[in-house]
Amino acid sequence: YEKIVLTDKGGDELAKINHTFNMMMEKLEQHYQKQQQFVSNASHELKTPITVIESYAKLLLRRGFDNKEVAQESLQAIVNESSRMHEMVLQLLELAKNKEHLAIQFTQLELSPLLRKVASQMQQAYHRSFIVDAEVPRYMYSDEKLVKQLLFILLDNARKYSEGDVYIHATESADCVIITIQDKGIGIPAEHIPHLFERFYRVTEDRNRKTGGSGLGLAIAQELALQLGIIIEVESKLGQGSSFILRVPKEGLQ
Ligand code: ADP
Repeated sequence: YEKIVLTDKGGDELAKINHTFNMMMEKLEQHYQKQQQFVSNASHELKTPITVIESYAKLLLRRGFDNKEVAQESLQAIVNESSRMHEMVLQLLELAKNKEHLAIQFTQLELSPLLRKVASQMQQAYHRSFIVDAEVPRYMYSDEKLVKQLLFILLDNARKYSEGDVYIHATESADCVIITIQDKGIGIPAEHIPHLFERFYRVTEDRNRKTGGSGLGLAIAQELALQLGIIIEVESKLGQGSSFILRVPKEGLQ
């Protein structure tokens, strides 16, 4: 907030203090509202899997002992929803982390090996193709752990919202290393693009039910990007696919 600087003892000093105080209160109020909204959204999102788990557990108790199919279906649903909840709790903890105490370490990273490593981990986990084209530029200056975390979120989305190959391309401009993650999947309607990075925002409920999304991935990606001085841009065409473009400052964060 704005600090009060007492420059003179003039008559409008009190009015200035009053104005600053009001501005502070307004900011605090906005912050509080945002926090309230977040807690309320988080509780709501966690309530859904809990309700599903509870009803399947009840079904299991009632009919699962003498019906193997019911038991199988109920247990599978319980496992799915627990994993969903587990993932969401990890994401919430990530967002709640006190960013000021995060030790960020900018180092010179060899770009091509880093992208190939991330791609091969994704490939192994999901048996999908992640194709890297990143010989130039050779280096990037960033925090390895955080930049990988950011890449994993975008690659995971590219995988979830497409069926074909995912492309990772790197190039450079005068002051940035530009990494593009491209999929040829379902795409995003233009009116949704400005909201994608909001916490819990999802384009439609049913495309996410299928993929098990929570709407928190891109909010986390945006926070990571902010800490690393990276700008994220989105280009997308409905039905044709999406590109998430990372502009990484060549000098890192000063
Ligand atoms: P989620 O856990 O739902 O995937 P995100 O915050 O990562 O949450 O993404 C927010 C929403 O943006 C998603 O629900 C999805 O609708 C849309 N989205 C993100 N990435 C893509 C992509 N590569 N292609 C299509 N839609 C996407």
